[in-house]
Amino acid sequence: MSVQTVRNADLIVINGRVLTMDSTRPTAEAVAVTDGLIAAVGDLSTIEALRGPDTRVIDARGGSVVPGFIEAHMHLFSGAAELAHLQLAGVHGFEALREAVQAYAASRPTQRMLVGQGADYTILGSERVTRHHLDAILPDRAFLMAAPDHHTYLANTRALEMADMLHGRELTPGNEIVMGTDGLAEGELRENEAFNPVLKLAGEERVRLGLSTGGEPNPMPDADEREGDRAIMRRGLDWCARHGITSVQNMDGNYYQLELLSEVEAEGDLICRVQVPFHYKNFMTPDMLDKASDMAERYDSDWLSSGLVKLFYDGVLDSWTAVMIEPYADRPDWVGEPLFSPEEFKRFAVEVDRRGLQIAVHSIGDGATRAVLDGYEAAQQANGKRDSRHRVEHIEVTTDQDVPRFAELGVICSMQPPHPPGSMGLPLEPTVSRIGRDRWRLSYAWRTLKNTGAHVVFASDWPVSPIDPIAGIQAAVTRGVWEEGLPDQSFSLHEAIAGYTVEGAYTEFAEGRKGRLKPGFFADFVVLSGDVDATPIEELHTVRPVTTVCGGRVTYQA
Ligand SMILES: [Zn+2]
Repeated sequence: MSVQTVRNADLIVINGRVLTMDSTRPTAEAVAVTDGLIAAVGDLSTIEALRGPDTRVIDARGGSVVPGFIEAHMHLFSGAAELAHLQLAGVHGFEALREAVQAYAASRPTQRMLVGQGADYTILGSERVTRHHLDAILPDRAFLMAAPDHHTYLANTRALEMADMLHGRELTPGNEIVMGTDGLAEGELRENEAFNPVLKLAGEERVRLGLSTGGEPNPMPDADEREGDRAIMRRGLDWCARHGITSVQNMDGNYYQLELLSEVEAEGDLICRVQVPFHYKNFMTPDMLDKASDMAERYDSDWLSSGLVKLFYDGVLDSWTAVMIEPYADRPDWVGEPLFSPEEFKRFAVEVDRRGLQIAVHSIGDGATRAVLDGYEAAQQANGKRDSRHRVEHIEVTTDQDVPRFAELGVICSMQPPHPPGSMGLPLEPTVSRIGRDRWRLSYAWRTLKNTGAHVVFASDWPVSPIDPIAGIQAAVTRGVWEEGLPDQSFSLHEAIAGYTVEGAYTEFAEGRKGRLKPGFFADFVVLSGDVDATPIEELHTVRPVTTVCGGRVTYQA
């Protein structure tokens, strides 16, 4: 005869409105956790029965309990570093900009290069910002500010001089130092090669390496610098946990980031699960993908993994660097310049796919997306169809011809509810005029794509947009149309939550372990301050994470 004892739970959550995202049991009152996994989901009495003397109890007080948010596209290291920058989101007009910049400069009297972020393209109304505006604000110290999308920076004369760029410089296609009629740089710097030399002077080269070159620090940082970089990572992870995020799919990377994160893990501070890709750039050759395979082999745990190759195929609409099939509506002779040729991309896609790795490509214009889908199709033809889950990032404009191809090819649409013009306080212009009325119908077409059966996963692209998934969910549900008669691209509340949970899990091949609250799944969840189903959608952002739990451990407590 054997006596079976039911083990007491390590942690239980009671009095919650549990939204499991699991269709077999959509709602519950309570959750029990043992050994970092969900032991049971059920009514109060079932879960109370698992309570022992050492069980930690979290009273949700009627708030929603949802699966931990999975951020499917973000930049952890640079985002974390930027928490210390001048935040210009919402600042408009010369006076407001002047006040913000001068106050920030005064608070950092010895900083060599001052950096701002979140300066939208219409920060001075319809007037284009040049170095002369910035010189009038800060004549004697170097200043640089990023547009929200981080594809354009604006520098003052001092910053351009320090980086030896006032007279321009040769750059590879897709990058541009905008030159004035006087033969000098105007201050606007488009894409990495154009602004990296200035940003380097801000001492943030290491945090941006995974994005700018995908390479490793050289020279390697000393012990103090490395500890400083670990502190930045910890700050970023805290920022995630505070917003209810339990998994991060990072969209830039190198060995250095993986090493820092594994050091943070050894110190017991890896409080989110992180995936870090290998970043492939257009100056690389396919043999360099050995590094991607090695990263995938070395980092393959539930907490820290790789297995993904990230690439930029084009830029962004606002600086005309996105690649379009037909010319821009406000620049009739221009379709943008791709960072890879379609043939190069095909060779790349076939090779990465052959290695069994996943691909994620930044592709904003319809021309870029056409080429990326062609590459994925070529990979299937060359290597045979497998469960590859290759991804396209952003897909801001697409075409009738390409809409069905995502589902057909099993390609994931990775889209960002905070990004459409008009969402979350973003201005409509210049973006909507740049796209042109004829293309509005299939711009940021989440619903159209989802209706084809394609997987649509949501993310913030932090620090491009605020990290807050709840604000993103609200933006997805309240998404309006730019003009009467355009298709409704909004998501229902539960569809939007799935975009930040279930779909994120699918995207990283982890739908059997996370994204839902289900026995045996990771105990990754967030207890919210209110009931999301009972909150008017316009007020959803007021519902805040109260407790974040990742792997059964409390990682944030309000
Ligand atoms: Zn990104």
